[in-house]
Amino acid sequence: MDYQDFFADRVRALQREGRYRVFAELERQAGSFPRATWHADGKQTEITVWCSNDYLGMGQHAVVLDAMHQAIDRCGAGAGGTRNISGTNHFHVLLERELADLHRTESALIFGSGWNANMTTLSTICKMLPDCLVVSDAKNHNSMIEGIVHSKAEKRVFKHNDVADLERILAAADPHRPKLVAFESVYSMDGDIAPIKEICDVADQYNAMTFLDEVHAVGMYGLRGAGVAERDDQMHRITVIQGTLAKAFGVVGGYIAGSEVMCDFVRSYGTGFIFSSSMPPAVAAGALASVRHLKAHNEVRERHQERAATLKRRFAEAGIPLIDSVSHIVPVLVGDPVLCKQASDELIERHGVYVQPINYPTVDRGTERLRFTPTPLHTDADMDHLVASVQEIWRRLRLKAAA
Ligand SMILES: *Cc1c(COP(=O)(O)O)cnc(C)c1O
Repeated sequence: MDYQDFFADRVRALQREGRYRVFAELERQAGSFPRATWHADGKQTEITVWCSNDYLGMGQHAVVLDAMHQAIDRCGAGAGGTRNISGTNHFHVLLERELADLHRTESALIFGSGWNANMTTLSTICKMLPDCLVVSDAKNHNSMIEGIVHSKAEKRVFKHNDVADLERILAAADPHRPKLVAFESVYSMDGDIAPIKEICDVADQYNAMTFLDEVHAVGMYGLRGAGVAERDDQMHRITVIQGTLAKAFGVVGGYIAGSEVMCDFVRSYGTGFIFSSSMPPAVAAGALASVRHLKAHNEVRERHQERAATLKRRFAEAGIPLIDSVSHIVPVLVGDPVLCKQASDELIERHGVYVQPINYPTVDRGTERLRFTPTPLHTDADMDHLVASVQEIWRRLRLKAAA
């Protein structure tokens, strides 16, 4: 077999389908978010980023940058090891305390990424619990799915956000069997939100654990930015809260929060935690500063929600087809992978508007979309320019308007 041919053939298959991924090469400009420099064909162009998961611009906030500069000067670059072998820095410990305080849990545990936090925690818990049944929302993120598959535990999928379907599955299972319900709060591609209270009610009724991914909610929902479970007053009911430091907190890393023994169990048995070097101290220091800042600044969250509501209203008025979203995410339906890529290409080339096309397998085929994430730092003038640009592209490519 010609191995190189095999690789090339599989890549060509993606190109034929129009869903080959092309990365936009950006140079972010500290202090002028959402502006960035786009490098393409040997040229550099000023563009406005409309699809960043740095949802609140914290990746460039002076409080975060100062904390990182200071920590680099004090501690240097890398952590120097895994957590167990010389790699536990004072900043890691402070950050874990801060996250436990944020979620009002006994303990928290940080990982190199949110992906790793989900993968390691779910695979470890579900593998070690004898005969565990995992009941997983149909739209759960890849990192949760990989963790569950890796555990080799039996998995049942419930219809997305459908509490009755979840209950049907739990009711049919052996009452003595250990169970875990895995779900997210904000689903990042549609922008809908799970009925956390109702899911916890059903989980309690059948004595199931709850595992909640709040990656697209931490920093952004709840009075102190602990997520939707905080907003809905359900935080105390979740067995494992999982989050990221890479989206609204603007840095990188992931974590879980929950009871002291649960965190100690994952710390002690989770191979993705044990055998991976810990994050640089400066990253932990930056994340710590970000969590602390957002905890005390609810007005940032209010402005964020206002910006999202304003952009939805403006797209609706312009006849641009929105996918219903109750969160800060503003998805616009294109419904075809080739046109979706073309719309994205033309927006950046002709108008300096950067929004990445979202195609299968991130979303279902036929629901290809542009996913806009307005932040508190996008101005009314930015929106004027965006809406006019999107309208121009919709007309020229003859894309479907709102029904
Ligand atoms: C991005 C994402 C993750 C992974 O978090 P990272 O910190 O980026 O690794 C996990 N869950 C969901 C729902 C995500 O969107």
